[in-house]
Parts: sequence; C-alpha cells; structure tokens
Amino acid sequence: MGNAIKVFTESRHFTLDTVTEGVYAAIAAPGTGSVGNAAIIDLGDSLLVIDTFNTIEAAEDLLKVARSLNGKQVSYVLNTHWHGDHTSGNQVFASEAAIISTKITYDIMADFGRKRLNQHLADSELIYQGLDEEEEQAKQEKNQKLKRDMQWDIASNREYMNMLPQLDYTLPALTFDKELTIHSGTRTVQILTFGGGHTESDAFVYLPEEKIAVTGDLVLSKHHPVLMNSNPKEWLNILEKLARMEIKTIIPGHGEVCSKQQLHEVKKYKQAITALVEESAENKESLEAITVPEAYQDWCFTNYFQLNLNRIYDFMEKKG
Ligand SMILES: [Zn+2]
Repeated sequence: MGNAIKVFTESRHFTLDTVTEGVYAAIAAPGTGSVGNAAIIDLGDSLLVIDTFNTIEAAEDLLKVARSLNGKQVSYVLNTHWHGDHTSGNQVFASEAAIISTKITYDIMADFGRKRLNQHLADSELIYQGLDEEEEQAKQEKNQKLKRDMQWDIASNREYMNMLPQLDYTLPALTFDKELTIHSGTRTVQILTFGGGHTESDAFVYLPEEKIAVTGDLVLSKHHPVLMNSNPKEWLNILEKLARMEIKTIIPGHGEVCSKQQLHEVKKYKQAITALVEESAENKESLEAITVPEAYQDWCFTNYFQLNLNRIYDFMEKKG
C-alpha cells in the first residue's frame, strides 16, 4: 500500500513501516524469528506494542526499535491471540509493560499453551528429526512456490526450537472480556474482540480517529489464512463485523500493510475453498487432489493449504 513508508531498521527479523505519525507496522521477514507481524503505537508518554513475535531475539529487536523511535517506554503490550508467533517474545517486555489479552486467550496460554510448550521441549529431538525430514521433502518438491514456503517455515521453526530452552513463558497480566480503551493524551486506542474465529479468541486494535485496525491473524495480506485452530464460520462472522467498521488501513497478522480489500479477499478465500471441499466430498474425491486456485498461487503459506482444506472438511463433518 502506498500509505506506508519504509524506514530503516537493523533487524533481520522485520522491516518497520510508518503507517501514520506514531503508528508503526513491524512486517515480518520470512524465514526468520518473527513469523507474525507486530505493531507499535505511540501513546504520547509511552508506547503500546501489539504482538511479540516467535522468538526472544526478534522481540529484543522490536523493543530496541521501539526505544529508538523516541526514547519512550513500552507501557502496554497486547497479545491479539495465543499463537506463538504473537506471544513468544512476551518476556522481553514483561518488566516494563503490562501485557494484555482477552480472558479466554489468557486461559488458553495458562493451560494448553504452557503444556504445548513443555511438550515441544520434551519432544525436541523428535521435532528436530521431523525438521530434517521436512527439509529433505522440500528439496524434492517440484512446485517452486511450495518449496520456498516450506523452506521458510522450516527455517523459522528451527529458530523457534533453538530458542526454546531460554524461553520463560510469560502470560498476560491484564485481561478483558469485550473491550478495553486506552485514553492517552494524544490518541484513543480501542482494544476489541468480536469473539473467536482464527483462534478461540481474537482481539484487535482500532484507532477510530486514524481509521486504522491492527487485526492480528483475522486478516492476512497475500498469505493463506491459517485455519488450523479456527472456527471457519465464526471467522466469517467476525470479518463481516470488521467490514462494517470505518477502516482505511489494516496492519495484518502476516503480509504487508493493506486495506479492507484484503479483508474481503480472506472472506472470498474461505468461501472458495469451502466450495472446493464440498464439491470434492460430493464426488467422493480426495482432498489431496485439490490444487491451489489460481487467485491464490502467489500467496505465501502455501504449506497451509492442505491443512486448511482438512479443517474445513472436519468442520463440515462435525456440523453434520
Ligand atoms: Zn495466528
């Protein structure tokens, strides 16, 4: 989008875009420790950071960049949802900032998130073996797009696994159910949730004056949305609600700064692959025979496509 200006950062994990004065998007560099995007919002006296990347090192770079903007302290951090690429760097901010999430996200992190992490640590040898095998598969892969996305995924997962022994899993300290507003001297920041779609609970940030939304993974730009932990129908409902809001600019969970157009593309993607899965089920064909529709062939996260089809299928079965 033309309204974002690239500014120099020294981090290999992300580039920083100025979206408008005091609003910055940290756009993840593929195959590194960031994986998801983050954002920084200037509150006048201090800063709000949205999401904390997939590794401690990437989060440390984010904190460094935040401090270098104007020397202000980070007083709040929001985790839009529980996924590791939005929460793993929490410990870097915990001493100076109040980490915020919805109550549901907190509960998931405190129980399932923590257990999952301990499982990763316990299984680390197996996980490394799996990554070696995936690397072999990627080498054999003929589809160049899929091959590249697989290699980025493997590289990011290696960084995550290498970091894991140092991770001090840090939970949010402040939770909300529906809405939390930060009234800073310079701007109003609304932290909202319309429930869970991408995960069991998804929060986003809305700046009503600037008409900017920081959506977490509810909206992705030129990336296959990740349906793994999703409720596809609820997600569509949330996108409908977002579509009715006055939003000019979106900082998405993955991909470049965008507009409502990408929100509509995510909706269309889900409708399109749902139709493909339904058709395949009717004809009793295998999901593996479905190829990426042309409209999405240049999108990243190609490696999630088959998983997405399976998730849609599982939901169809469950709903009868
Ligand atoms: Zn996510």
